Amino acid sequence: MKLQDIEQFFETWAPRWTAWERDNVGIQIGRRSHRVRRVLLALDVTPEIIDEAIKRNADTIVTHHPLLYRPAKSLSDGDMVGSMALLLAERKIALFSAHTNLDAAPEGVSFALARALGVQSPKFLAPATDSLVKLAVFVPESHAEKVAKAMADAGAGIIGEYSSCSFRTNGKGTFRGSAASRPYAGAPMDLEEVEEVRIEMLAPRARVNSIVRAMKPAHPYEEVAYDVMTLENTNPNFGMGAIGSLKKPVKLSSFLALTKKALRAETVRYAGSLGQSIRTIAVCSGSGSDLLEVAIEAGADVLVTADVRYHAYHSAIGRIALVDAGHWETEQAILPVIARRLHEWSSARDESLDVIITKHITNPIHSI
Ligand SMILES: [Zn+2]
Repeated sequence: MKLQDIEQFFETWAPRWTAWERDNVGIQIGRRSHRVRRVLLALDVTPEIIDEAIKRNADTIVTHHPLLYRPAKSLSDGDMVGSMALLLAERKIALFSAHTNLDAAPEGVSFALARALGVQSPKFLAPATDSLVKLAVFVPESHAEKVAKAMADAGAGIIGEYSSCSFRTNGKGTFRGSAASRPYAGAPMDLEEVEEVRIEMLAPRARVNSIVRAMKPAHPYEEVAYDVMTLENTNPNFGMGAIGSLKKPVKLSSFLALTKKALRAETVRYAGSLGQSIRTIAVCSGSGSDLLEVAIEAGADVLVTADVRYHAYHSAIGRIALVDAGHWETEQAILPVIARRLHEWSSARDESLDVIITKHITNPIHSI
C-alpha cells in the first residue's frame, strides 16, 4: 500500500473539501509513492509519538491534529515544528492528518464520542449547509440508465444512508444542429424531436465538475444539456457534532460518572443540576460550545464538548446541561474507529496493513 492509498481512504470517508477553509489536512510529510506497511495512530504529533513510531517500526503516522497548520516560514531545528518535520523526513516516516474533515464526516470524531457515551444511532447535530447542488440532465430514454449510473458512481444522488437517489420525468427534447454538427438523431439543419428523460440528482457542490466529467461520456449527445442549481438544503451526509438518545434516561450525576469513565477523563466541568434527567445527548468533539444554541434548539438535555468558556456555562443554565469533558478526551475515541476502518478497507483490497494505536496520552492538560 502507498501513502496515496491512505489519502484515498480518507477521501472516501472524510473528503478534504469538507474541512474548514483555514485547516490544513491530508499529506503533511511524505511522497505519495511512500510504501505504507505499519501506521501509528495518534491525536497529535509530539517528539514522543515520533520516537514511538521509530521504536515500533511504523513508516507512517496518521494524526487528527495537523503538525503543519499555519504556513511554515522555514523547516529548521530552530523550532519544535521544524525539528519534528525534519526528523520525520530524515527517518522516512510519512505524516497524514485528518482534522476538521474527520470532524465533519459520518462516523467521524463526534460520532465516535457519541457512541462512547452510549448514544444510539447518532445523527449530525448541525448538518452542513451550502454544500449541495441539484444536477438535472436531459437524456434520451435509451441512455437514461447509463447516465444515471455514471453520475451515481461519481458521487451524485447520495442522501444519508441512501445512494443512487434520482427523480426522473419524461418529456420531449428538441434540437436543430448546424451544418457542422454531428447530431445523435436526425440530420444537421433539421429540427429533431426526441423522447427524453430529465434526471435530477443531488450532488456535493465540490464534486460537480467530476460528476459532469463522468456523465458526459455516458451521454450520447455531442452537446449535453444539463443544469446545476443552487440549493438551500442542509447536507445530511456531513456536518458538525452529533445527537441521539440513550437507551433510557439517567440522572446527570450518573451521566457525568459514565462520561468520565468512557472518555478516560480525570475530571469534567459542568453546568446543570445533578438530579436532572438526561436522555437526548448532543456532542461535539473538541471545541464545540458554539453549537450550544443548536443543541438547545434540537431538544438535547445535555451538550458534551470541550474548551467551554465561562459565559457559555452561564447561558446554558436552566436550558441545557453543559459538560466540558476535555479536548483530548472528547476526541480520543476516534482512534480505534480509524484503526478498524483501515483494517476493513485494506483487507477488502487484499493488502496487508498493520495499524497500531499510540500508547502515549498526548493530552498536555492535567488535573489534580
Ligand atoms: Zn481537536
